[in-house]
Amino acid sequence: MSVDLDLLKTPGPTVTALTAPFWQAAAEGRLVIQSCEACSKAVFYPRPICPHCWSDRLAWREASGRGRLKSFSAVHRPGHPGWLPAAPYVVGLVELDEGPTMLSFIAVGEDACAVGQLLVLAPTRIGGRLLPAFKPSAMAGSTTPNQTGDTLMSTETKDGWIGVIKGRPQVGAFAERSRRTRPEDIEAFTEMTGDRNPLHYDKALAEASVFGKLIVQGGVTSGILNALVAEDLPGPGTVFLEVAWKFVKAVGVDEMITGRVEIKEVRPDKPICKIETSVRNEAGDICLTGTATVFTVPLAKA
Ligand SMILES: [Zn+2]
Repeated sequence: MSVDLDLLKTPGPTVTALTAPFWQAAAEGRLVIQSCEACSKAVFYPRPICPHCWSDRLAWREASGRGRLKSFSAVHRPGHPGWLPAAPYVVGLVELDEGPTMLSFIAVGEDACAVGQLLVLAPTRIGGRLLPAFKPSAMAGSTTPNQTGDTLMSTETKDGWIGVIKGRPQVGAFAERSRRTRPEDIEAFTEMTGDRNPLHYDKALAEASVFGKLIVQGGVTSGILNALVAEDLPGPGTVFLEVAWKFVKAVGVDEMITGRVEIKEVRPDKPICKIETSVRNEAGDICLTGTATVFTVPLAKA
């Protein structure tokens, strides 16, 4: 994140009468949230009525600016092109000391983030406006991540796989899983997504096409990899962060396919690994090939 965020052409906030006090304070480098005068609970996002007790006696109060990182994500493909020069950047769910959770820009790189770490308000100029952002509190008073030797050290030595149900996988470990595709797969996938491509339904058209047969949707083919990472390796709690797949050969109906995942790299400090993925048909031809990065949410009960 070496770009000057202030020069980004990002869209500004939509300010309403309800949210104006928040944005006004933000422009001054302050964070204010609502507080209920009836039940004393803090409220965010801005609302006309307290979600805890339905009172309309909500007042704006200065927040402590302290919080804890509940979850975060590195954004590689921003929702708005104005953010592209800054990608990848981090957004996080910040649990404020006052109670509410706030989605916020986190003003450090992904590697400096860890779930549970303490954060402080770090107002940041983005796209010509001063906006609320957060940074790790260990960095308070410092301006570059390099100065936080202690934080980086503790991140490196921390075992990021604690609590992962099947534990840390070994590089080179692999798993395979087979299943036969069925006409019902096509219908289920259409039900889910609305994809009613004639290649999956119109037998005559499909047979006259380059495929020469009715084929299942790509999601049916790649779906076996979802099952593999979530059931077998790295196991329960695993989600895809990034995939780079080539669909090399179409899969027809009533074909036995075999998915395979192999662990290529394992991050010690976070439950993240890079895996090699493939799906083959009965003849052994590769139908899908590529790589993926997966994250395994620690779900084991202590
Ligand atoms: Zn209330």
